[in-house]
Amino acid sequence: MMATATKLRTREDVLQVARAATKSYVSTAVTIQINDAWCKGCTICVEFCPKDVLVMNRLDKVEVKSLEACTKCMRCEQLCPDFAIVVFGEPGKSKS
Ligand code: SF4
Ligand code: SF4
Repeated sequence: MMATATKLRTREDVLQVARAATKSYVSTAVTIQINDAWCKGCTICVEFCPKDVLVMNRLDKVEVKSLEACTKCMRCEQLCPDFAIVVFGEPGKSKS
């Protein structure tokens, strides 16, 4: 039986997929980026967000529903097991 050749993905291939799958929510105070390719829909970030900023969509991917309520506590970013959500903005500052 002939072995099937598997194409190895380069680091640039992986980054390209990640960039294409990233959604950005931007305000003057905070930016939240969510990578749909890495989000497995575990809902941890939604459940632990103290301000009810996040929500799951019909595809079981997380979305931002109220960016203005985000306090940049970073809990979602720190608890996500898949590094799929990133928050930019200094905690405690109203503007980043
Ligand atoms: S914690 Fe991470 S993997 Fe889980 S739903 Fe949130 S962004 Fe997706
Ligand atoms: S940084 Fe804090 S307030 Fe903002 S979305 Fe994440 S958990 Fe919610």
